[in-house]
Amino acid sequence: MTARLLDGTKIRDEIFAELKSEVVRLGSEGIRPGLAAVLVGENPASQLYVRSKIAACEQLGLASWMHTPPASVTTDQMLRLVQDLNNDNAVDGILIQLPLPAQVDTKRVLEAVDPAKDVDGFHPVNLGRLVSGRPGLVACTPAGCMEILRRNKIQIEGANAVVLGRSDIVGKPMALLLMHANATVTICHSKTRDLAGVVHRSDIVVAAMGKAGYVQADWIRPGAAVIDVGTNKVTNAKEAESLLRNFPARLEKFRAKGSTLVGDVHPDAANTAGALTPVPGGVGPMTITMLMSNTVKAARLRRSKASSTTDAVQSSAGAR
Ligand code: NAP
Repeated sequence: MTARLLDGTKIRDEIFAELKSEVVRLGSEGIRPGLAAVLVGENPASQLYVRSKIAACEQLGLASWMHTPPASVTTDQMLRLVQDLNNDNAVDGILIQLPLPAQVDTKRVLEAVDPAKDVDGFHPVNLGRLVSGRPGLVACTPAGCMEILRRNKIQIEGANAVVLGRSDIVGKPMALLLMHANATVTICHSKTRDLAGVVHRSDIVVAAMGKAGYVQADWIRPGAAVIDVGTNKVTNAKEAESLLRNFPARLEKFRAKGSTLVGDVHPDAANTAGALTPVPGGVGPMTITMLMSNTVKAARLRRSKASSTTDAVQSSAGAR
C-alpha cells in the first residue's frame, strides 16, 4: 500500500480541541452554544445518528435538546415546532433529522428553519451564499472534506478536481467549495461519458455516488488525492471477496461479521493514489465534527460580541 491515509478521526480530535477553547471563550461572554435536534418517529438508524450528535454536544460542553414528534406528525405541527425553535434565543442550531415521514413536506420544513440556525447548511439562503462566495453555514460533509484536504496540505489551488455525484447535500456544495478554493472542477453524474478518463485526468477525486467500489484503482492518476464520501454496507460474499481481495484481514472480519463498509472507490486504489481517506474513519467522523463547528459558529455569529473575529475553524471550514 502506497497511499498516505487521510485520517478523519485525527482531524476530528484537532477540531474538537479548537472548538472546546472557543466554547470556553464564548462561556466567558455568558454564551453557551446550543443545538436542538428534531427526531421524528422511531427509525433506528436516525435514532443512532441523533444520539451520536447529542453525545458530541455533551463532549464539547454545548447545550442540546431533543424533540421527538411521533411518526404521525403533520407538516403544520412540524412548522410550529421549527417556529418555536427559531424564536428560542438559547437555540443556535436546528437539526431536522432526515428522512421525515412521507406525509410531511420536507422542503417546506427545511425552508422554515431560520438560515442563521441552519447548521446543516441545507437552506436555499445558505446555498445561495455559498454560490456567491459569501459567509454562511456550509453543508457538513463537504465542509469536512475541505478540512481533510486543507489540514493535510493537499494543493487545491490550480488542481484539476473531479466530484462524482451532484446531490444537493454533498456533490454540488463540494464542487462549489473546491471552485472557491481555486481548483478547476468537473462534476460527474450518472450520465457522464468516459468517467474513467475524467477521473484519470484529476489531481483530486471526491467520490459521492453511493456505489460500493465503483471507481477502479487504475482510473486513479498515480499520486492523486482521493476523498471517498461513499459509505456502502456490503453483505454479499462474492462482492466482498472481489473488493477486499488484497486485504485479507478485512476479508476475515467480513466473514466473521457478515458485512463490511466500503467506499465508492475500490480499496485497491490505496496502491495508486498518493493520499486516500479510509472507509470507515475518513470522511465519516467529519460530518458530526462540522455540525458541531457550525453550531459554535452560528452561536458566535448570532450572539457573540467577537463575531467579527475569524478563528481557524471558521476560515478553514470554507467560510468566505
Ligand atoms: P445521492 O443523493 O444518491 O446522489 C448520488 C449521486 O451519484 C447522483 O448525483 C448520481 O447521479 C451520482 N451517480 C450515481 N451513479 C453514478 C455513476 N455510475 N456514475 C457517476 N455518477 C453516479 O447520494 P448522496 O446523498 O450525495 O450520498 C453519496 C454517498 O455518500 C452515499 O454513499 C452516502 O451514504 C454517502 N454519504 C456519506 C456521508 C458521510 O458522512 N460519510 C454523508 C453523506 C453521504 P444522478 O444525479 O445522475 O442520479
